[in-house]
Amino acid sequence: MDLSREEMDRFIENNLLNFSINGSGWHNLIRNMLEEFCLAGWNLNEKVSGKEKFGGLRCYSTSTDEELNIEIRKIVDKYSALSGKTCEICGEEAKGRYVDGWEATLCFKHYSESIYFIEIRNNDIEINDKIIGNLNDINKAETDNSFRGIRIYFSGQEKYYGFHCRQPNYYLLLRSIALHLFSEEDQKYIKSLFENLNDCEVCGHKSLSESHCLRCFNDPWKNSFLEDYESKSQYIKHCQMDLFIDEDDNEKVFQHDRSFEKLPDHKILFNDNELREYEKDMYD
Ligand SMILES: [Zn+2]
Ligand SMILES: [Zn+2]
Repeated sequence: MDLSREEMDRFIENNLLNFSINGSGWHNLIRNMLEEFCLAGWNLNEKVSGKEKFGGLRCYSTSTDEELNIEIRKIVDKYSALSGKTCEICGEEAKGRYVDGWEATLCFKHYSESIYFIEIRNNDIEINDKIIGNLNDINKAETDNSFRGIRIYFSGQEKYYGFHCRQPNYYLLLRSIALHLFSEEDQKYIKSLFENLNDCEVCGHKSLSESHCLRCFNDPWKNSFLEDYESKSQYIKHCQMDLFIDEDDNEKVFQHDRSFEKLPDHKILFNDNELREYEKDMYD
């Protein structure tokens, strides 16, 4: 079987169009995959198609030749694994992320572009450096999604703005909105939430609610954790190392969050050696 470069290129470019994906970051990956299809003996008259699912490249095309299908499966698995490390927008090194509840594979730059950063300056509320309104012009505020989100309404505007707790400075905003703009039930909840915050020994902020830390999202220590950890300090140490390694880039995203007071006497429980050992175990 002798294929000319031209035939292969035509097959590759034609079939690339059969892949339904969000950006062009995986185009070279798909091109390489289709080239391997050619070299494995794929009939170039047969269409190959695929799509993105759960942040990964999927391709279910098969031939009538069972032996060839075994090869094709191997090729597809290889490129599917590579897609999980390649930004679907730009092709740079990437990780699996959650964006608005959807899985996507994005580099840090494209991930952070999908986040709406909240900032408050001179009582103006800004989203990604654009002013959307002033705190003094809010005429109603509602909580959403069992207090994980809020909706705010500005005087003279029909539409509302929604915010959720995974946005940096979300709790700064929640603290800054006059309480009386919320319903009585919400007022009680918000007041007690901020009044009862404890010190988080993991991230070193006054941000620990009854259920979890509002800043680093770790759970407060419970005796039932003794099944997995020797002691409370071992648990805190592990959480601190996870925070430092920052696998999901949450710390990077929240580095300018001003929602919570920093604790002046916060202690880091791990040392360099322990961190190295921990990382080794993690990636083995
Ligand atoms: Zn990217
Ligand atoms: Zn914390």
